[in-house]
Amino acid sequence: MAVFKLDNVEDLYEIGSVLGSGHFGQVCEVRERATGVLWAGKFLKLKKGAGSRLGLERKNVEKEVEVLQSLQHQNIMALRDVFESRSEVVLIVELIKGGELFDFIAEKENLTETEAIEFMKQILEGVRYMHQKNIAHFDLKPENIMLSDKHAPHPDIKIIDFGMAYRFTPGEEYKSLGGTPQYIAPEIINFEPLGTAADMWSIGVITYIFLSGLSPFQGETDEETLRNIVALKYEFEPHHFSQTSNMAKDFIQKLLVKDQSERMTAEECLIHPWIKPLNRTQIAKRNRSSINMKNFKKFNARRKWKMSFNMVSACNRFCRLQLLCKPRIPEQQELRDCESDQEDTGTKPASLLRRRLSSSS
Ligand code: ATP
Repeated sequence: MAVFKLDNVEDLYEIGSVLGSGHFGQVCEVRERATGVLWAGKFLKLKKGAGSRLGLERKNVEKEVEVLQSLQHQNIMALRDVFESRSEVVLIVELIKGGELFDFIAEKENLTETEAIEFMKQILEGVRYMHQKNIAHFDLKPENIMLSDKHAPHPDIKIIDFGMAYRFTPGEEYKSLGGTPQYIAPEIINFEPLGTAADMWSIGVITYIFLSGLSPFQGETDEETLRNIVALKYEFEPHHFSQTSNMAKDFIQKLLVKDQSERMTAEECLIHPWIKPLNRTQIAKRNRSSINMKNFKKFNARRKWKMSFNMVSACNRFCRLQLLCKPRIPEQQELRDCESDQEDTGTKPASLLRRRLSSSS
């Protein structure tokens, strides 16, 4: 069992404002007392006991830490330090100040494919690097693609949240359920052996949304979305893709492939003509094509609304529980627990998938 630093994190870092929340805890800005340097602290609640519904198993935190420790790349969030107490583990990570890529794009009036590709290329470089190390992220989605500094002339992409990532050992068969319905690959839904190709499917979905502002497999319900994915039921509606180049559509089509071995790898994506044009004609086509900004803004607004709705309803559920037990206002620490209330790992894979999927879409 890995042992993390046992010092009290607050002796070394001053805890600042909340930057974001996930299912298992909060991320706060922290200032290193010795140097004044700003970092982000990811506070992960640990399960209190075997029967506890709240919090993460320690071995899952160790997995996330081990993965992060082995990744050093400009486009991947860097890990600096790890502390633990009886109830939580705190990851001190690089502070990413630029917010989510999709929010940055949604503020723009227009964006050519050439400009969009600058971001896609960086995502692919980060993903290629982790795949070369036999690590799959398994939760690539817009919320996990951030920007180092949105005011920089060329902001760096930073991939975050390695909570579901996995490092493969050669020859090993790995199956897992989980992820966010819109972005997960068919092999995850079918509970088949997984590989790094599952991330490439998610990149196909992200690219489709990026260009059109539509989600390719989105149904009325999570179940319908999953059925659409397994049936490979998607299309490029001419009305929404009128500004999109054929090269971009070809790129997406080579990622949204059911057979994992036929799907483009990150390495192959980086030499696809949409990303790396072979001649002037291809360069001109990319410059003439643009992303569907009207749809994109709508998609992003809906996405943000859903995220805050999920957070509020999780907190409301927690407050109701509190009122049933003891009528008082929950403290900050307890509100952190409520995000974990959506998870229960002690269940069979099928019901776990349902719960995980319905809590994260
Ligand atoms: P999930 O429930 O999606 O698995 P999680 O508990 O693993 O989430 P993260 O996704 O890592 O948590 O972080 C939650 C949020 O905190 C992110 O969506 C982002 O807004 C913010 N965040 C995470 N890491 C950083 C960072 N290094 N710098 C700034 N903000 C961050």
